[in-house]
Amino acid sequence: MSASPLISLSGITKTYGRGHAAFQALKGIDLEIDSGDFLAIMGPSGSGKSTTMNILGCLDTPTSGSYRLKDVQVERLERSQRALLRRHCLGFVFQGFNLLPRTTALENVELPLIYRGEPASSRHEAARAALAQVGLKGWESHTPAELSGGQQQRVAIARAIVTRPEVLLADEPTGNLDTRTSREIMELIVSLNEKLGITVLMVTHEPDIAAYARRVVHFVDGFLESDERKREIL
Ligand code: ADP
Repeated sequence: MSASPLISLSGITKTYGRGHAAFQALKGIDLEIDSGDFLAIMGPSGSGKSTTMNILGCLDTPTSGSYRLKDVQVERLERSQRALLRRHCLGFVFQGFNLLPRTTALENVELPLIYRGEPASSRHEAARAALAQVGLKGWESHTPAELSGGQQQRVAIARAIVTRPEVLLADEPTGNLDTRTSREIMELIVSLNEKLGITVLMVTHEPDIAAYARRVVHFVDGFLESDERKREIL
């Protein structure tokens, strides 16, 4: 583990709108996350979880405060530089899988590498390896409609890790899945965290899902209300 944290948020605020319509969604967030950590982000609806994830994911910028990712001051970057940082360091998994329909699993997983301009042969190889890593060897040519919900989320996870990101941001990754499949997906995410050392930041409403994380932070009304570290993974 490096001496300085992988991620450091300091005094982060976010105000949407202006004047009478202004609304402060984040009211001063301080948060440090070490490389290899697994964080569950919880809190009631409207408490600022998505706003924080959008900032962490370099999709949005804070109104004030500082966000350091590795040794980069993210809030000082231009939009295009943030996109580059996102493409190279971050992977995203969503509740709704967000796969391209009528497109094979292999092609879906290759997409981030196409954006990076990688040649076809290395793309195929990396996408096949990522699919194997999530337990989908042999399913490369199937389209999302031919896969179960759990398999579609595995494809989405393969797409998120094919670029070998340091951080995986997961927004309710099991929100659309039944209990058994949710457990399988969480075990996969835990193994990526433990075996590959990917830092995981996951929003969830469900305590059972948060229980897979090493650390649980609770947002309330734009503040970080609690930050709890567990001794052991379940
Ligand atoms: P959570 O993810 O915890 O449900 P959000 O971060 O989405 O919370 O939202 C925090 C608050 O900011 C909410 O009151 C929400 O209505 C408000 N908000 C979020 N996005 C916008 C936006 N683009 N414009 C105005 N208000 C917003």
